[in-house]
Amino acid sequence: MQPFKSVSYASVQPGTRLIVLGAVHGNETCGTQAIGRVIDEIDAGTLRLAAGQLTLVPVANPLAYSLRRRAGDRNLNRKLAPTPTPSAFEDHVANWLCPLLAAHEVLLDLHSFHSPGTPFVLVGPSDNDGRLEPFAQAAREEALAQRLGVGRAVEGWLDTYAAGVARRRELAAAFPDATLDLDPRYGIGTTEYMRSTGGCALTLECGRHDDPEAPALAYRAILNTLAHLRLIDAPDPAPVPRLEGLCLSQVIDRLHPDDAFMQPWHSFDPVAAGQAIGTRHDGSAVVAPYDGFIVFPNVAAEPGHEWFYLARPSARLTRDVLPENLAAFIARHRIAVQVVSTEEAAPTAEAAARILGVDVSDIVKTMLLTDGARFIAAIVPGDRRLDRKKVAQAAGSGSLRFASGTEVAENTGYAAGGVAPFAFAKPVTVVVDESLSQSPGRDVVAGGGRAELLMRVSVADLIRHTGAVVAPIAEGEM
Ligand SMILES: [Zn+2]
Repeated sequence: MQPFKSVSYASVQPGTRLIVLGAVHGNETCGTQAIGRVIDEIDAGTLRLAAGQLTLVPVANPLAYSLRRRAGDRNLNRKLAPTPTPSAFEDHVANWLCPLLAAHEVLLDLHSFHSPGTPFVLVGPSDNDGRLEPFAQAAREEALAQRLGVGRAVEGWLDTYAAGVARRRELAAAFPDATLDLDPRYGIGTTEYMRSTGGCALTLECGRHDDPEAPALAYRAILNTLAHLRLIDAPDPAPVPRLEGLCLSQVIDRLHPDDAFMQPWHSFDPVAAGQAIGTRHDGSAVVAPYDGFIVFPNVAAEPGHEWFYLARPSARLTRDVLPENLAAFIARHRIAVQVVSTEEAAPTAEAAARILGVDVSDIVKTMLLTDGARFIAAIVPGDRRLDRKKVAQAAGSGSLRFASGTEVAENTGYAAGGVAPFAFAKPVTVVVDESLSQSPGRDVVAGGGRAELLMRVSVADLIRHTGAVVAPIAEGEM
């Protein structure tokens, strides 16, 4: 067995401290290969660290690695914490690895998986100050997650585990033969430990264990991370335009050697509510409780350990998902819209117009005004200014001022800067500038309910579904 090994490089220029791990699970060697390649290139001078610190750990678990197994004495990626009384080999790993993690700011942990499936990245929770996993760096993690070369992200690891352990307490009574781990810290692995020390962390699942593409994906991910964090002189990689986001919602344990799957599941196979996933040894069915996806199915799971996970779509990680009420309104009225995130469209009106195939003058602003009693949404082309007197006249209101951010949120249900032209939270009179209605078949681009979303919709739909008053409300119009 090899001793613990980490290779650290430090630049004279200050910068982020990044640590990259391979073979946390001994049979997952794509990271080990990719890290070896990076070490060779830095040592040969073909890859140059321009700032910060880079620590590379080719084999985090040497015992498991020497055995070519997931674990040595136990799974290193569960209940990871330093201990004054190490017993399992992985306890010794933890005593070496945890302080090393704590000395860094960003962790990239490279893994592979058992059954066929597409590579994906596991991200931490949203920013929160809860008890289980308080966190304040979700945006930093998401930005990196979008640059690792994978199109799918999965969140919700630790709370899934906490719920899973709670469920195990009930199961333990029913299945006394299964050795179930009831420690609430069960779900704490490298990334959770890293976040608990103030860092941020991503687990990249690079493909199936024996996938010949996985080491190349791992290598590319390391270089993209170095570029994104500005540790090497290379442009920041472009974020993937559409990250499919899933939220882990449940972990289901295998309880008996005769527990069996109905079919050879792959990660991210969809399952419908009520669909049989497997059978327990007593013949009872294991059924999907809701529409979702299978993740990490493991036919060889030992009784008492994770058999498979269920996931559902995550609104947080899927960039082009409209707010729920807006999506429901659009579906109910069968309105044809095309949604584009500004991240994809670039932050300028010109770029958005080009991508959506409309003229810049077709990008419309929805502004909320009030006379103190009523609220009026005025919709004008992006290149024109509205005339408040004309809006008041068209709406039959008193004299108008612009609504405050709080009033916008309260009355439209959208944050200022992302106001959609319909599906408001409260009754709002809508006034559309006459210049927009001259050809009702034409499309305009309006806010999509969130600052980073735009949607393309026809003027005819916009007027019909808002019951809008059409009037000349822009400056200079008669
Ligand atoms: Zn793994």
